[in-house]
Amino acid sequence: MEIRDASHLQGNGAVETQELIRQELNEPKSQVVAIGLAGENRVYFASIEQGRSSASRGGIGAVMGDKGVKAIAVRGTKDIHVAQPAQYLKLCDEVMEYIQFREKSPIPGVIPIHAVLGSPQEMAIHDEKWHLESFAWGNARTRRKDFWSEYNEKAFTDTLEMARTRLISCYNCPLHCGATISMPGLPTYMMKCFTKLTYLMAAFSDLDFGLRIAQRATEYGVDGYSTPQVIAFALELYDDGILAADDMPGMPEDTEGKFYYLLDRIVRRKGIGDILANGTHEAARQIGQGAEAYAHNNIKRQEQAPLKLSMLNPVYFLMYCTGEKLNITQIEGQFPQAPYVKYEDREAFVKDWFQVPHERFKQYFLDWNPRGENSNPYYPTPEIASDIVDWQERMHYIDDALGICAGLSSFHMKPPYHIHNLPKFFSAGAGYDMDEDKLSQAAKRYRTLVRAINIMRGMRRIDEKPPEDHWKKRFPELEEELLNTYYKLKGWNDQGIPTRESLNNLGLDFVYEEFKRRGIMTDEEGIRHEESSNEGEVVGAECAFVLFS
Ligand code: SF4
Repeated sequence: MEIRDASHLQGNGAVETQELIRQELNEPKSQVVAIGLAGENRVYFASIEQGRSSASRGGIGAVMGDKGVKAIAVRGTKDIHVAQPAQYLKLCDEVMEYIQFREKSPIPGVIPIHAVLGSPQEMAIHDEKWHLESFAWGNARTRRKDFWSEYNEKAFTDTLEMARTRLISCYNCPLHCGATISMPGLPTYMMKCFTKLTYLMAAFSDLDFGLRIAQRATEYGVDGYSTPQVIAFALELYDDGILAADDMPGMPEDTEGKFYYLLDRIVRRKGIGDILANGTHEAARQIGQGAEAYAHNNIKRQEQAPLKLSMLNPVYFLMYCTGEKLNITQIEGQFPQAPYVKYEDREAFVKDWFQVPHERFKQYFLDWNPRGENSNPYYPTPEIASDIVDWQERMHYIDDALGICAGLSSFHMKPPYHIHNLPKFFSAGAGYDMDEDKLSQAAKRYRTLVRAINIMRGMRRIDEKPPEDHWKKRFPELEEELLNTYYKLKGWNDQGIPTRESLNNLGLDFVYEEFKRRGIMTDEEGIRHEESSNEGEVVGAECAFVLFS
């Protein structure tokens, strides 16, 4: 490992930095992760960019920036050791065969991105009716229920066809979730997933604008969920007189121009951008004058996908509240989002649903009706909803631990990687005896450790709530019961803190000791119920890049 001076790269874009480092090292095959201006300036929603991927939620790019690390380059030259190569390849062949089957057999009755596998395949799909009409535009407030007209469908299709140079995949993957995007006059960049739509929806604009601003945002290295919402939030404050003309000197008149103007200021922490760079929650606190009510689409201080729905869904309620990965797409999957109307369609769905960890999950789905007694919000019951959420998040934590793409696993219904074959991959690859129970237990330990870290940073039950207006119909008593039931299943107390007993059962006694040392647990199970917040101090740092070879 070598640490090199990167002062000459300071201020460069996250994408261009990757190429500059490859040239500097004369290693065209090296893989590089890098931050842009946003990470360097510790913007709270800065991303880390890498070739065809982006680690964006939670402002992880600001962590690199705070440590003065501009990029990390890796060049692997040694062989990969596989403990049982024949068995491993057999498993790979089975997965490949199933992927091909799933690509030819989309799941009926679900939205296009869930019908097929992938991360999701936003770059291949033109039908955006569901996203554009179900998600809210602007500062996560306005539904446009008739947006997907013939005219708009053609305009979106034409723009994507023009911009999309080619569909691309991650190394050795048969799917093509990403695309190279070349907008006239702009450098080519890589895009996948929902960022295709987030900027244009926040600005009430079109796909041409969305793909253009996303190019600049990708170079700056910012999260495509949070950034458009922060800008839309600022413009709403401006329209309502909470931010004044003095806060926005020289701001263009047109909405698109305003978006570029604020994006440029945020990543440089210039003027009002210095406050907005802290995200809507913190910016609202700093601005005051009622700005807090405008930061309305947050969970745990993080901007969320702008979904505003009608009836509370108990499974989604739990995932939104208790998820610690700050994005619903990193928790959901496996189980359908809504019941099927016809019972025979449900029967057909469960027929080849071999990925379930237990047969009872099939019955949960068969019994779920769109109307009547067994429908949302009281069905799935708190016990069943907790069981479903436990399965869904277990699969995401396993994917994270094993480095499996959620697009082929936890994010999807009927995925090729699942609880029954992942332990076999583990055993054949690492030569370590793994089974479903052990893997599930490992995921539980991981999940509990993540929770413990957040508990130590001040998270409590009070933080576990969706945006007030996420669903129109809310059920306070039921919501309390859902949280209580889920906490109990997890082995947490009524504040969502892992109990001493559950920590001991997971071999995490040291976490209990740490809770005690920090005064979170004052005795056997005595818990302090304080709400704290660590705002994070920004410190100066040198700029370097790290080279692994
Ligand atoms: S690894 Fe995942 S994101 Fe990449 S192409 Fe395959 S399914 Fe898509």
